[in-house]
Amino acid sequence: MNLATSLEKVKGVGPKTAGDFALAGLRSVNDLISFLPRTHEDFSEVVRIADIHPGKMTIKARCEKITTRPVRRGLRITTATLVDDSGKLNAVWFNQPYRTTQLAKADEEFYFSGEFEFNYNKYQLTNPSAEKVSDMPVQTDRLLPVYRSIKGLKSQLVRKILAELRPLITMLPETLPPEIVASEGLLSRSDAILGMHFPKTASDIAKARERLAFEELFELLLASQLNKQDNAKLTGWHIPFEQPVVAGFVKQLPFELTGAQRRAAWEIIQDFEHAVPMNRLLQGDVGSGKTVVAGLAARQAASHGFQAALMAPTEILANQHAETLASLLEPFGLRVGLLTGSVKGTARKTLYEQIAEGGVDVVVGTHALIQETVQFHKLGFVVIDEQHRFGVKQRQELLKKSKHMPHLLAMTATPIPRSLALTVYGELDISVLNELPRGRKPIATKIWSPNSRAQLYELMDVELKAGRQGYVICSLIDDNPDNEVKSVETEYKLLRQGPFKHRTIGLLHGKLKSSEKEAIMHQFSTGRLDMLVSTTVVEVGVDVPNATVMLIENADRFGLSQLHQLRGRVGRSTYQSYCYLMMSDSSKPTRRLREIEKSNDGFYLAEVDLTLRGPGEIYGHAQHGALNLQVATLADTKLIARAQKQAKRFVATGDNLLQYKQLAAQVEKYQRLTTLN
Ligand code: ADP
Ligand code: MG
Repeated sequence: MNLATSLEKVKGVGPKTAGDFALAGLRSVNDLISFLPRTHEDFSEVVRIADIHPGKMTIKARCEKITTRPVRRGLRITTATLVDDSGKLNAVWFNQPYRTTQLAKADEEFYFSGEFEFNYNKYQLTNPSAEKVSDMPVQTDRLLPVYRSIKGLKSQLVRKILAELRPLITMLPETLPPEIVASEGLLSRSDAILGMHFPKTASDIAKARERLAFEELFELLLASQLNKQDNAKLTGWHIPFEQPVVAGFVKQLPFELTGAQRRAAWEIIQDFEHAVPMNRLLQGDVGSGKTVVAGLAARQAASHGFQAALMAPTEILANQHAETLASLLEPFGLRVGLLTGSVKGTARKTLYEQIAEGGVDVVVGTHALIQETVQFHKLGFVVIDEQHRFGVKQRQELLKKSKHMPHLLAMTATPIPRSLALTVYGELDISVLNELPRGRKPIATKIWSPNSRAQLYELMDVELKAGRQGYVICSLIDDNPDNEVKSVETEYKLLRQGPFKHRTIGLLHGKLKSSEKEAIMHQFSTGRLDMLVSTTVVEVGVDVPNATVMLIENADRFGLSQLHQLRGRVGRSTYQSYCYLMMSDSSKPTRRLREIEKSNDGFYLAEVDLTLRGPGEIYGHAQHGALNLQVATLADTKLIARAQKQAKRFVATGDNLLQYKQLAAQVEKYQRLTTLN
């Protein structure tokens, strides 16, 4: 038996079990060895019920009585009486009705492990885990790994099979360079995996985690360093700084640039002058004015005959950018083209020709830009707006449309916490717009209960009456996109017939034809609609400064970053803006809602989101879902700093990565996943 042996050949794994494992992507011995426990339960200190005190407690007891009852929509409470020789105790579970069947067998003994606390006016054990005593390993005085549940497979079985594999784990080869393991004082790979699956003490687990997390971070950071090195070897376009051109552009702006915009623009201009292609991330909170920075850079590039391309994730956004850039650049005789799915027939053909012959200087578009038929005359500068919406492949396709690697500016309004920037985007230079244009007031945000809906409509109408505009955002109620349209249409009708019948209201959703969407957005942005009832299609980038009030329905269904993005559609002028977060019911607001109510700071909210959800979900699966960090958390800044130091040293000493085969494979995978070009 070796690491590549298929699980089916392992003692205790029948075809059925092997099939279940395979569904979870576990096929080989190595896959299962690397399948780390989700958490560990501490059964080493079992107390008698008579001796219990507040805190995390484990008891060995039988379940005497158990019932589940619905309390309100979305909440079912299961309560049980647990008994041992010394006494009785109440236990409670929230939304775990299966406990009733699990625990119903009266004479079966279980270990219950949970928080013993004062809750709902009495002491009880809250949400305890339950492990059959008869399922436990013989020596019960130890920590038990708990595995992510796989359909039909209990942790218990996983533990049993891993016990079979234990001899093999003790022989696992080292994957990190030995000097690093030694100088960082890390466990060997084999000891770390043993420590996760068979810990004896809490410190075993901590050391095992440290080693495995270090390894993941080291790989990620090394990948970043290597990407940066690769990028430095490329030849780019040299675009010399033209002071009068830039000054002329700035002079005709209807506003003064913020200090942050100036700094970012200057950093880009300097990058243009280098022979190495720019690889820069422009991160600025919603409304910080990224578009004009991109416009300035495009102006500078055009002064040397270079074309620029700007790719946006939605058609609405591409239209808006094309309009903005045209108004900024046409006064200088530059031509802006718009290429989206709705540009058809001869218009499309003509545009292709113009792009190929250099008849347009700036091409704004959606994914349509990356099609093979699109050929540029001399593409020198690529801007990707809302870059996390695109996959690596799509960016690469666009960058390939030039003889030399074009300069790349990736823009994002989802601020990236420092730790993530370092690990995942370490190869990038970063410009930050940490300053909003002058005169902006923080958006007043308020959580609202459906009980007082009528008052809210009155408040909103005050804004509309004053000539401002508003958004009502409806969410996807379930996973069926058809229902999204239904819910937004229903809302639209309700508002139009009821509280806002004296206003003009528009309806916007993803299922409309592009021309219809465009027409509605146009009506809204020119002030002919007082209110827009919409799905989240307005989430990214839409800029209508006169809109000052937003109502988000079922706000609890959205993620934190998404709420912040949505809210960013208001607060784009010097008027005071408002954002109301309507809850789906009148229960206690979630942490997410409380955080967003409290803060307008995208960086802060991104940090919170990172701790609440993890990087994969925030930054989109196109890019990071596959990163699949098992152990490392990006909140661990100390470990990141250590791994960063070692990764830099590794690159600097020119150590040959290829001699560490497994490490090299992993690093290569990360390089592919995180590179911007
Ligand atoms: P985002 O960074 O969210 O993409 P935009 O580029 O859409 O922001 O800009 C938001 C709004 O702010 C636009 O209406 C833009 O014209 C305006 N704006 C940008 N920079 C400034 C500035 N320095 N002063 C005043 N308004 C500005
Ligand atoms: Mg934008």
